[in-house]
Amino acid sequence: MSKTKQFKTESKKLLHLMTHSIYTHKEIFLRELISNASDAIDKRHFLSLTDQNVPSDQYEIWLTPDEQNRTLTITDNGIGFTEEELINNLGTIAESGSKAFMEKTDQKDLEIIGQFGVGFYSAFMVAKEVVVETKSPYSEKGYRWTSDGESTYTIDEIDKDNIGTSIILYLRDNDEEKEENFSEFTKAYQLRSLVKKYSDYVRYPINMMVEHTKDDKKVQEKETLNQMIPIWKRAKNDLKDEDLNGFYKHQFSDYEDPLKVIHTNVEGMLTYTALLFIPKKPPYDFYAETYEKGLQLYSKGVFIQDKNKDLIPDHFKFVKGLVDSADLSLNISRELLQHDRQLKKIADHLEKKIKSELESMLKHEKEKYIEFYDAYKHVLKYGIYDKFGLNKEKLQDLILFKTNKSDDYITLSEYIERKQIDQKAIYYASGKSKEAILKLPQMDLMVEKDLEVLLFTDDIDEFMIQMMQTYQELPFKSIQNAGTDLLDETKKDALKEQEKEHKDILKALKKELKDKVKDVKLSYRLKESPVCLVSGEGLSLEMEKVLKSMPNAGEIKAERILEINPSHDIFKSIESLYQKDKGTIHDYATILYHQALLLEGLPIEDASEFSLALTKLMIESSKK
Ligand code: ADP
Repeated sequence: MSKTKQFKTESKKLLHLMTHSIYTHKEIFLRELISNASDAIDKRHFLSLTDQNVPSDQYEIWLTPDEQNRTLTITDNGIGFTEEELINNLGTIAESGSKAFMEKTDQKDLEIIGQFGVGFYSAFMVAKEVVVETKSPYSEKGYRWTSDGESTYTIDEIDKDNIGTSIILYLRDNDEEKEENFSEFTKAYQLRSLVKKYSDYVRYPINMMVEHTKDDKKVQEKETLNQMIPIWKRAKNDLKDEDLNGFYKHQFSDYEDPLKVIHTNVEGMLTYTALLFIPKKPPYDFYAETYEKGLQLYSKGVFIQDKNKDLIPDHFKFVKGLVDSADLSLNISRELLQHDRQLKKIADHLEKKIKSELESMLKHEKEKYIEFYDAYKHVLKYGIYDKFGLNKEKLQDLILFKTNKSDDYITLSEYIERKQIDQKAIYYASGKSKEAILKLPQMDLMVEKDLEVLLFTDDIDEFMIQMMQTYQELPFKSIQNAGTDLLDETKKDALKEQEKEHKDILKALKKELKDKVKDVKLSYRLKESPVCLVSGEGLSLEMEKVLKSMPNAGEIKAERILEINPSHDIFKSIESLYQKDKGTIHDYATILYHQALLLEGLPIEDASEFSLALTKLMIESSKK
């Protein structure tokens, strides 16, 4: 009994694109179907190790061209499909490659089809009808799936004993006008060359029966079309960049070349090959909680696992790639694999290798490093912060900052190299942007003293620095913090004297603002500005902003200290007004405090109180 079903909407779109494609390299359908076949064998092989219901086999992929009937059949003895899987996997766009491709199609750039793993549907670029005959070890029956790639497909039960899948393509008619010759795909020489071009490193034999003439008689013989040497097993000298890039794009569903390829062969106590890639851009779901890091794991060229998390630390989770090691025993379950000592050692090696490659990129190819850094700085910074700073030493030389003196990124060690001889701290300031930070009142003194200040413009920055605390034994100090005092002893004493002198007005301001600030102080750090707000111990004002922007933030508040510029005219006139009339102080205190909030990029706390005070003073002054 036949069941006819509709394709899901998204699938219809992709199918439409495929069937009406004007893409010139339609031949890539073969690569896609062979790659699916190889994946299906991987799955069966892996399951056969742990699940008694899945028998193993002599794994092979077969190409069967039929010139007379204009068909090409691709057969594998992989995991096959259950009926449900046919519906879910072929009736809907699965994921990864095809989905990412769909998201890009509005670019109308059909050339990128070839770079994506567009998968099974690419068959419709060359076939007017596709038939899938399949049997899974998990179902009694076999099934036949048939479709012309328009809007529906049909599923029938069939008798099929051997596990695996045959995909029969009924090739389209040739179109001379468009110079499309689909009968090519039934010719042995053509298939041979396509396999060589796209699928040479597939690990299972891709076989075809070919006719030979032997002693004047025609005989059929099996020919294996691929070399089966995985790309990472080939000699490095034989590999061109385009081989590696092409492999990356196809294997990891990207349409751009990777930013960096790390290919390493290790022999000795521990033997493995790793082929790692840093994508130019993080994948679209990189920052989602569901994103899974990990490397593909192979043992002697045989696939074991798709995303082994233990091979890559969180702070390098942007690395994609694979590890092939002969030292892993295959007959172990995934749980055991987690505790495998060899695996742990490989992971340690890889972490060091990635770190040293990044360091060398930073040293020798700074522009490229900056491209990398701009894409992944959050991961590195979070890595420093995470696990209570456990990995800070590993990562601290990979982070970069811009400063008040440099529009180019510098490292912390460069900061140290050019700091002033007697400078005892690494100064930083936080804000929304470079411009906002440079305008901070606290910046004046730094400029006057010709001190370099790291500009923190990412939310994570201050949290990260709290974990680092020091770099080369020098503490980090925020210029927005009350503790940051750059005055020498004599000036400090002078300031104390001044505070004594003005203690009445300071006390009065403090009293007015007692619910808002912890202290009101005089400060020498201000030049142009009459006031600024700094934070006391612990949480900084910037951190308060970040934490408050998070869901369920609750009542988080940094300790506020209002600093007043004693040489500013406004201070002097408030003081003399206060001496004449104690009642004026409330409005001035309110305005000064809100002014300081604004300068710090914080919202006005009490808009009506602020506006009232301002209005009153404007009326006063207009009367004069
Ligand atoms: P992708 O390979 O990107 O996931 P495809 O459209 O190529 O997308 O395939 C969809 C799904 O169908 C695959 O993820 C796989 O589960 C299944 N599949 C495809 N080809 C085969 C095959 N030859 N044998 C078993 N399952 C297959």
